[in-house]
Amino acid sequence: MHRNFAVMAALTVGMVSSAAFAAPRGSYKWTDDSLQNAVYVAPNPAAVSHVIYLNNCKPNGCQLKPGQNNATTNTSTIPQSNSVVQPFTGSDATWNAVVQCVKQTYADFDVQIVTERPTSGNYHMAIVAGTPGNVQQGNGVLGVSPFSCGYISNAISFTFANLISNDVDEICWTVSQETAHSWGLDHKYDNRDPMTYLETGPTRKSFQNAAGVCGEYNARQCSCSYQGTGTAKMNSYAVIMQTFGSSAPDTVPPSVTITFPTEGTQVNAGFPVKTTVTDDRTVEKVTFKLDGAEIKTLTDAPFNFQAPTNLGQGKHKVEVTAVDRGGNATTSTVNVTFGTVCTDDSECTTDGEVCVEGHCVAGPSSEGGLGTPCEANSDCVSGQCAEDSSNSYCVESCDTAASACPSGFACLGDGASGVCWPSNGDGGGCSTSGNHGASLLVLGLGAILITRKRRRA
Ligand SMILES: [Zn+2]
Repeated sequence: MHRNFAVMAALTVGMVSSAAFAAPRGSYKWTDDSLQNAVYVAPNPAAVSHVIYLNNCKPNGCQLKPGQNNATTNTSTIPQSNSVVQPFTGSDATWNAVVQCVKQTYADFDVQIVTERPTSGNYHMAIVAGTPGNVQQGNGVLGVSPFSCGYISNAISFTFANLISNDVDEICWTVSQETAHSWGLDHKYDNRDPMTYLETGPTRKSFQNAAGVCGEYNARQCSCSYQGTGTAKMNSYAVIMQTFGSSAPDTVPPSVTITFPTEGTQVNAGFPVKTTVTDDRTVEKVTFKLDGAEIKTLTDAPFNFQAPTNLGQGKHKVEVTAVDRGGNATTSTVNVTFGTVCTDDSECTTDGEVCVEGHCVAGPSSEGGLGTPCEANSDCVSGQCAEDSSNSYCVESCDTAASACPSGFACLGDGASGVCWPSNGDGGGCSTSGNHGASLLVLGLGAILITRKRRRA
């Protein structure tokens, strides 16, 4: 598996070890060596074609001639002689998924991805088929594109998809990289961007709207001097946006499914939260909240999380919110409980436990149990310390409609959610202090203010 030396030599000065190129993703070939380190020139909008034709060379292969880059006449600076690129050997399902993926990768930009050759006008042709030997490239090269520090009209890029004919994301990544070389993008040292060589990072890459250094396996100066960042950095997204302009705004929110845990189940402390998040374009971030408090935000798949290991007993709300690059958000919620299932205190076999809302929790006789005085959430087994104007007690979440608190407690709250609060006054006796309308504040959940509706004894 060696990179074609001629292409390599054309590629860079300043690359050190050839061993680093054992499995090159793809390469680019300067249309003119004198263009190296040139100033990147944004194309005249009138000279830009917004059509990218994905050609799988079925059924008879793609006939190519050496010459100036021109997709409409099948001439290219890549092959050295008349050549035939063999048809794509992957399945139709793989092909369709690749087309979808390339559409998704370019969704923010004003381009049309087509799979039939346009009958008129200009277009980029991305050949997604064959092997490198078909156009005299070295074994193991996944793709190649002509390259200059600017947009090459009617270019033909190559993704040698028959090397990886079953790997949708790998083919899509290579197509995205090779097409973008034709718009003047260098390799980026960023494992989230399709311009990367790095095998780490998400398998499905997306053009990153952030300036970053160029490079294959090591950071290096960019081979072109880009607007605003010079040779120090490149912003893939910005260069492509400048080339094609923006597509219609993204109005389709992501889809979020919490696959574990499922609604109403019992969980253990530190339980995993597994999700499936998809978007028609790009997922920007996914946030996991437990009982309204943010636990973690991830920007890359897989979007799986872990609940805290110091999980309080009782009911918990798992919320996962995905936001796409267009700012559209979707939240999915499941309610779970931590503790033994019960219908009555007598079923709670651990000393001092009582039954709240169908699960056993530490009761008033346990340290940090329900109804014991507290100063902070950490004082309570439930993780919830609530206070009214004069007292603070450890509480458990409850449903005000069900009012399933143990004897001596009432479910006080505003709306559906409440907490079990001592029902016979401030820790005992009959209260006459007239606390109607005072509010219960669950510490640490600052936004949750509960209007106290104390039951009169
Ligand atoms: Zn490349």
